[in-house]
Amino acid sequence: MSAELIGAVYIFAAILFIFGLKLLSSPATAVRGNLISSFAMLVAVLVTLASNEIIDYRWIAVAAVAGAIVGAVAARRVAMTGMPEMVALFNGSGGIASLLVGWAALYMSDSAHISTVVDTPDAPAVSAFTMITILISILIGGVTFSGSLVAWGKLSEAISSAAVSLPGQRFLSLFNLIALLACSVLVFVQPAWTLPLVIAVIVLSLILGVMAVMPIGGADMPVVISLLNSYSGLAACAAGLAIDNSILIVAGSLVGAAGIILTNIMCKAMNRSLSNVLFSGFTATTQATKVEGEVKPISADDAYLILEAASSVVMVPGYGMAVAQAQHVVRELGELLEANGAEVSYAIHPVAGRMPGHMNVLLAEANVPYDQLVEMEDINRRIENVDVAVVIGANDVVNPAAREDENSPIYGMPIINVDHARTVFVLKRSMASGFSGVDNPLFFGQNTRMLFGDAKQSLSAVIAQFKN
Ligand code: NDP
Repeated sequence: MSAELIGAVYIFAAILFIFGLKLLSSPATAVRGNLISSFAMLVAVLVTLASNEIIDYRWIAVAAVAGAIVGAVAARRVAMTGMPEMVALFNGSGGIASLLVGWAALYMSDSAHISTVVDTPDAPAVSAFTMITILISILIGGVTFSGSLVAWGKLSEAISSAAVSLPGQRFLSLFNLIALLACSVLVFVQPAWTLPLVIAVIVLSLILGVMAVMPIGGADMPVVISLLNSYSGLAACAAGLAIDNSILIVAGSLVGAAGIILTNIMCKAMNRSLSNVLFSGFTATTQATKVEGEVKPISADDAYLILEAASSVVMVPGYGMAVAQAQHVVRELGELLEANGAEVSYAIHPVAGRMPGHMNVLLAEANVPYDQLVEMEDINRRIENVDVAVVIGANDVVNPAAREDENSPIYGMPIINVDHARTVFVLKRSMASGFSGVDNPLFFGQNTRMLFGDAKQSLSAVIAQFKN
């Protein structure tokens, strides 16, 4: 296949990527956007495979079949609740792929023979620019890989979601960074040591990824996840430069840029600067004030009586709705309330759930009309006039400690002010804290009623009352 034709198809694929990305911005068009982008990636991969540079297809076939099986099984089997963990693993896969491409680029081939940087240290087979891009793809790829594994561990609760930092963490991280820089520079000064130095860069970047994500507290994880997403793109972009593949550069840049925009949105949602999220955990010593008081549990029958008399109701979903898979009953209750004459809206906190847009996806799946979704700022403006706020498995995103307790690790994070509604129902199974591990004074509020139990079962019981 001629270089011109390959270039033309790459441009076509790049246009489809951008178009697909644009469609992802609305739930109504997101599925189409996903399909278009996937098709573009298929085209890009096929054209790359058809290029003359492929020496042997055997290993490529093995990898393609293995990847397809893993992807298909994961997509079919992973429950909606496991999606955030899968996204973290996919980010990590992007990172390790870029690291491996960077590593492979050290062994460049030309038409006459396979020459390697490592075998011919006096006359490296790659230019200084390529070597820089190789090092960057290995470094960012390594950080993304190990950081994403830690993120996966925190999201799946295989490890504590709390901020964990070693004694002298800041010093160790600084030392690691300096060592990384020194090894990278030494590659140019001492080409004969390329192999051990690159191995050192790999090891140090893997350690850096772990050290960067471990000290991030649960509530700040959305920022880290979108940042790791962006890193996976930047690493792919660097790998594209290392092997001179334009579509990888374009695809990597798009992921990198989209990830940075998302990171910025998440930072705004948390009212935190990026540096504050990344470095505050290193020194975090604050402990939220202990909250105590009287809890007022109610039954589904009591909840029905209050809801039946309400003229405005706002549903506030959180991670527990995803766990309970309660989105369909939430919509059903919403419809019954509307039929009963109440005004119903669904307030979405930007970091509710465990991945950006988690609640939007679930409510869209349950066919909740988009025009009933309300953003945090909008609902907060009129929350005093809401008769009942129904909190469905949300905790951190409605925790007034974020507004009032300066000692709280989540202090400053904007929340949905459900405690300002006339009555609040909190649907959850116990008094357990949310992902941040911080106690929630909302549960002891004067106007709060706790409806304990699995959210889907509790809502089904209320619905049954309405139907009777
Ligand atoms: P939280 O994690 O704060 O709280 C979820 C609550 O759901 C728990 O308190 C739990 O209480 C309850 N719950 C669990 N299962 C059920 C069930 N079956 N039925 C009823 N309730 C249930 O969720 P939020 O959505 O309020 O906050 C999200 C948190 O996750 C924030 O701290 C955010 O920063 C963080 N995060 C968000 C990400 C994102 O991108 N959106 C990514 C990573 C982290 P109980 O066990 O008592 O039932």
